[in-house]
This record gives sequence, structure tokens and C-alpha cells, in this order.
Amino acid sequence: MTHEALTKLRSATPQLWTNPHRKPPPSNDSDGAPPPPAGMQAACDRFARFAPLLAQLFPELTASQGRIESALLPVPEMQRALGIPAHQGRLWVKADHSLPVAGSIKARGGFHEVLEEAERLAIENDLLQPDHDYRTLTTPVAHALFARHQIAVGSTGNLGMAIGVLAAALGFRAVVHMSTEAKDWKKERLRQRGVEVVEHAGDYELAVARGRQLAQSDPLCHFVDDERSLSLFMGYSAAALHLRAQLQVQGVTVDAQHPLLVYLPCGVGGAPGGIAWGLHQLFGEHVHCFFAEPVQSPCFLVQMLSSHGSNPSIYDFGLTNQTEADGLAVPRASEMAADVMRPLLAGVFTVEDQTLFDNLAMLLATQGMRIEPSAAAGFSGPCHLLGTALANSRANHVVWTTGGLLVPDAQYERFLQRAAKQRNGA
Ligand SMILES: *Cc1c(COP(=O)(O)O)cnc(C)c1O
Repeated sequence: MTHEALTKLRSATPQLWTNPHRKPPPSNDSDGAPPPPAGMQAACDRFARFAPLLAQLFPELTASQGRIESALLPVPEMQRALGIPAHQGRLWVKADHSLPVAGSIKARGGFHEVLEEAERLAIENDLLQPDHDYRTLTTPVAHALFARHQIAVGSTGNLGMAIGVLAAALGFRAVVHMSTEAKDWKKERLRQRGVEVVEHAGDYELAVARGRQLAQSDPLCHFVDDERSLSLFMGYSAAALHLRAQLQVQGVTVDAQHPLLVYLPCGVGGAPGGIAWGLHQLFGEHVHCFFAEPVQSPCFLVQMLSSHGSNPSIYDFGLTNQTEADGLAVPRASEMAADVMRPLLAGVFTVEDQTLFDNLAMLLATQGMRIEPSAAAGFSGPCHLLGTALANSRANHVVWTTGGLLVPDAQYERFLQRAAKQRNGA
């Protein structure tokens, strides 16, 4: 089993690996909805406290009154196009590709950490009591306080976008450390919003390490650590509460007869890990979370296949980390996320870039949804499970589309051209 998985991993062959160490918490079906863990509820409450302020800072949040959430959408045309028969479950999209302001799943974790830091500083400096109207944080006094502090992050793009844009809007000095390989339009957009972009030669991992190092020498700098941050993790986990409410509204049951299968694109593992952990707190063993990774960057799979306590890189397995899914181009997993997921994760599947572009184009053609390559990774998941006991007529498959809103038209056009070229066998 492990041997076969390693062989496929080294040869960059797409595969589904199922987790032999899985031991999710039992669900307490009889007691109705279990209360969420404190950290997850706290993140939810924090988003609610800040909503009026966020609505004031970002006009695109007026309609939602400052709430940053995404829709849960049935995608029957996409289901048909993928060849998933109705008797093997129903296909949904959790549409984080349309999350406002940040344009990706990073709005969940990234915004949460910036808000937590802003709240902490404001309370410490007597600018805020917990029951205050948080719009007081737009006053010149608050702005001046934040301007003395720096929020820094290392990012392939989307995390930097979320952290940078919100931190700058609150008045912080926002610094994003990026690898030179990161997309130019992302760097450009950040600079336009007043964010300092520092470019580092090498990959994502090096950019994070350099950023962490520089931040450590500055006591007024808060570094958002994508590989180790609990605040990010809890921010992501809050999505589980919202999804549970959405499933209820849609009349979707989750229990032993009605499994919930969730497919999450994975980079370091923080975002999918936080969400999967949250879902397991709410649904116990009845939710089955699968992570999706590019065949050239399967860092989480490598981590799951390695002995506990080691933290290998995909380069050790002869892989390149070259993929158009820039949100997933990560050579080494977060050990924190891996430790949390080891007993929970249902499996990991790997995807070729070609399939990402096919599914990206198919989702536009069938449902009119516009996503980025990273966000297309989840769609191969249900196909791997066809014919298994999990894919039954009462199953619900939720593919998490993690980004896309901010992709410039010209760039998106190139994604479509790439998909078309493949179809024509060029
Ligand atoms: C960051 C990101 C992910 C994965 O999140 P990790 O925390 O790195 O695992 C997935 N999709 C998109 C679009 C992202 O930006």
C-alpha cells in the first residue's frame, strides 16, 4: 500500500491514497448539534464583532453587512459533465472562489489573524472594550497606533493578498514576502493597495523562512506564520459552522446513512486542515475529508506517508514543485496541520495540471463559475471514489473551490486557452 503510493508519488502519477490511520471522533447523533469548540466559536464571534468595521472599510461588503462568507451551490451540470451518476451522490460547490475582498479561502484564516492582532493591540492600548462598536478603530488615534506596527507574511500570493489588503486598510505597515516566482499581477495589486512586497529568490518555503527571520528582529512586527499559526487555523475552522448551517437550510442530512464527502485543495495544509478539523468537531465520523494536491507538489501526502516526527520535502522524492496551481505549490507540509489531520484525514489525491485546466474550463462551461487552477483541484476527488461504499445515493460531495475572484481577465483567458489547446491535442 505505502510502497505503491510512493511509487506513484515519485513518478508523478495521479492517485488516491486512503489513510490507514484514520480514527475520527465518534459523532453524538442522539444529542443533536454538538457545541463547537471554544477556539472555533471565538473565531466566529470575532468575525461578527468586526463585521460593521469591515463593511465600512470595504464597499463590496455593504450588501453582506461586513460578513465574509460564500455560497453552497448545487452543480448538477458539472456533475453530469464529470460523469458522476446521481445514484453515487449529489455534487456541490462551496464557493470560496467568490469570497469578497481577498478572492480566496485565505479570507478566512488570514483575515482572522489580522483582526485578532488588531483587537489585541487596541485593547492593550485602551482603545477598545469588547462591547464597543469596532468602527472606532478607524479613528486617527487607532490608525496611528496600527501605523507603528508591522504585519508581515510569507506567501505565494493569496495569503499575502488577504493579510496585506486588510492590514493596510486598518493602517498597519503591511509587508508581504514573496518568492520571485509568484505571479506578477498579485505583486502589482498588493503594491497598489499600499502593501510593501519583498521578493526573495527561490520558492515559497524560502520566502516564509526569510520573512520569519526578518520579523523576529523587530518587536513591533507580527509575523503571520502559515506553517504554525493557531489563529489562522481557527479562522479557517469557523467555515465549518457556516457550512453546517447551509446544509441545514438545503435540507441535507449528515449521518451514518448520509455521508458528507469534502474535497479540499491543499498547500501547507492549514486551510484544509482547519476546515476539516472543524467539520469533524461538528459531524464526527460522518464527514470524510480528502485533500487535493498537484502531482508535483504533494507535500501533505509525503508527510502522511512518512514516519511521525519527520517533516520531509517533496524535493527529496525527485519532484519539482512546478505547477500552475500556485496556491498549492508548497514543498513541505505544516507539521501542525499534519499532526491534527493524521487521525482525521480520509485520504489525499493528486492531480495533473492538465486536469486542473480541464476542470476549470468545464466549470465555466457548465455552471458559469470562474475559478483559478488551484481551486479546480478538488473536482477529481469524487471520480476517484465512484463505485466505493461512500459514493452512495445519499452521499453529498462538496468540492471546495478555493480562489478565483481576483484573477485578472487576461490571465483567466490564458487558463481557458491552455485548456482548449489540451483538448485539441496541441
Ligand atoms: C492557500 C490556498 C490553498 C491551500 O491552503 P493551505 O493552507 O496552504 O493548505 C488552496 N487553494 C488556494 C486558492 C489557496 O490560495
